[in-house]
Amino acid sequence: NKKIVIVGGVAGGASAAARARRLDEFAEITMFEKGPNVSFSNCSLPYHLSGLIPDANNIVMMTPEQLKNQYNIDAQVNSEVVNIDSDKKEVEVKNTATGQITHAAYDELILSPGADPIMPKSIKGIDHDNVFSVRNVADIKKIQTFLDVNKVTDVAVIGGGFIGLEVSENLAQADKKVSLIEAADHVLGTVDDDIAEMVHMDLYRHGINLILNDGLSEITDENVKLGSGREVKAQAVIVAIGVRPKTQLATKVGCKLGLTGGIAVDHNYQTSIPHIYAIGDAIEVSSMLTKKKTRLALAFPAQMQARDAVDHIYGRQVQNRGVIGSQAIHIFDTNVASTGLTAAQCEKEGIDYRSVTSFLKSKVGLIPGATPIFFKLIFGYPSGEILGAQAISKSDIDKQIDMVATMITMHGNISDLTHLEVCYSPWFSTTKNVVNMAGLMAENILNDEYKQVQVTEIRKLVEQDAFIIDAREPKEYEGGHIKNAVNIPLSQFRQRLDEIPTDRPVYVHCVGGQRSYNMVRALNNRGYKNVINISGSFLQLCQY
Ligand code: FAD
Repeated sequence: NKKIVIVGGVAGGASAAARARRLDEFAEITMFEKGPNVSFSNCSLPYHLSGLIPDANNIVMMTPEQLKNQYNIDAQVNSEVVNIDSDKKEVEVKNTATGQITHAAYDELILSPGADPIMPKSIKGIDHDNVFSVRNVADIKKIQTFLDVNKVTDVAVIGGGFIGLEVSENLAQADKKVSLIEAADHVLGTVDDDIAEMVHMDLYRHGINLILNDGLSEITDENVKLGSGREVKAQAVIVAIGVRPKTQLATKVGCKLGLTGGIAVDHNYQTSIPHIYAIGDAIEVSSMLTKKKTRLALAFPAQMQARDAVDHIYGRQVQNRGVIGSQAIHIFDTNVASTGLTAAQCEKEGIDYRSVTSFLKSKVGLIPGATPIFFKLIFGYPSGEILGAQAISKSDIDKQIDMVATMITMHGNISDLTHLEVCYSPWFSTTKNVVNMAGLMAENILNDEYKQVQVTEIRKLVEQDAFIIDAREPKEYEGGHIKNAVNIPLSQFRQRLDEIPTDRPVYVHCVGGQRSYNMVRALNNRGYKNVINISGSFLQLCQY
């Protein structure tokens, strides 16, 4: 019988064990987990802090007993693999409670040790009892107990990635005063600044004290001090500034690391040492889009890699396409999702790209619950290759982003997207949904049918005293408008052509881009050469 030993018993490890059992009823599968729990939902951890998951023990999905009874998997908790002898094909295991050392032989070894939260030692006070990170059930219980016992009122969350945001939201739901500190100029590195700005507005609206462009410099029992010198009241601090792949065990046995610091694996997840595989947050992966090595600490890749590694052990073909990085987050009542490359990443990678922003309701407006979706599509220029998308809305947006993720995976281009026939009824979307619409807009750009600038350029345009037409109706204009924008509604512009200059660029905007786009096309058809649509939404700027 094949002996499969797995290091780490959560997302990647437990998936590998279950897959191995499905392929081989007689394999001896042993899974060693350093902590007290296996098979828990890391992604649900923040929701204990708000009480949405009142009992943290419910985050654990399978006990070692259940794994034994249902799958005949030997899951050993409190068991840290401290050494690997790759010649003898044996691991050395330390019982973390008793210190006792045992050995276990393997035919195939799978490493899924995950990642460590980054806790910079250089920050004074980072080792204090009121400083936490969130990685497992024990962490979240420890935080909750500290908050309760010390009657904590103010918490500082360091890092505006998805863990920092989810922790902030859940603490705010539990009536804590939350300061969220982010060193970059916007939260969520997985989206561009225009989408992130809308997240910022939502955070402010829910009372989060969001501080951007500032970092942690010192922690005391009552305050955190920031790089700028500013002090923020906080009796507890949660650090969520990223993770570092856990590679100590792998390097000890001589597995090579990649340039990004993750364990180097081939396309079958084999490390540089025979019969040792590695998966999950600990490894380096390939980006399907940039073809470069990268790291992606997400649950789906970890589970898929687990399946692929085990399939390879059993001689099955593995189709490793690389990662694209699809992710979603729910913060308060807003959903944000993204896939593929952002515009900022395209710029960094030197990829010639264009982006369009479409804005439509989630359902036909007459149907209850119809809410706006802001959708940004990024595509290669002039190839039309689909590179990425981002969306934000109070409605579900995973479907829209998943359409694009599917297209990217199938190497689709813009014309594939515009012709993608998806289901429609007023309850589910508008006839042309927001993704189709973005595809059509992108097609117009590729065909050079009109010019556009991004809504984020507005400040610059106003400073330059550019001629900006607000194509909305007067009532909408009166409710708020861009400084010095001239209100010439789509419904009136044909009678007011003499107000539109021909000797300088004319920029047009509205709420969602549709009226402005129609005006741009009409003016182009009337011979106006320098009319430019402002891609994006007025709501995006100030009212979302
Ligand atoms: P893990 O699931 O962390 O498992 C690794 C395990 O290995 C750990 O339990 C560790 O104790 C154990 N271990 C390490 N070294 C040893 C050793 N030497 N011996 C024995 N055991 C060892 N991803 C998403 O896609 N969507 C989300 O919404 C999402 N939300 C998240 C929220 C939070 C708060 C966190 C922390 C993560 C979230 N993730 C999310 C990320 C996702 O959970 C990880 O990418 C995924 O768990 C990685 O799987 P893994 O097996 O590599 O590591």
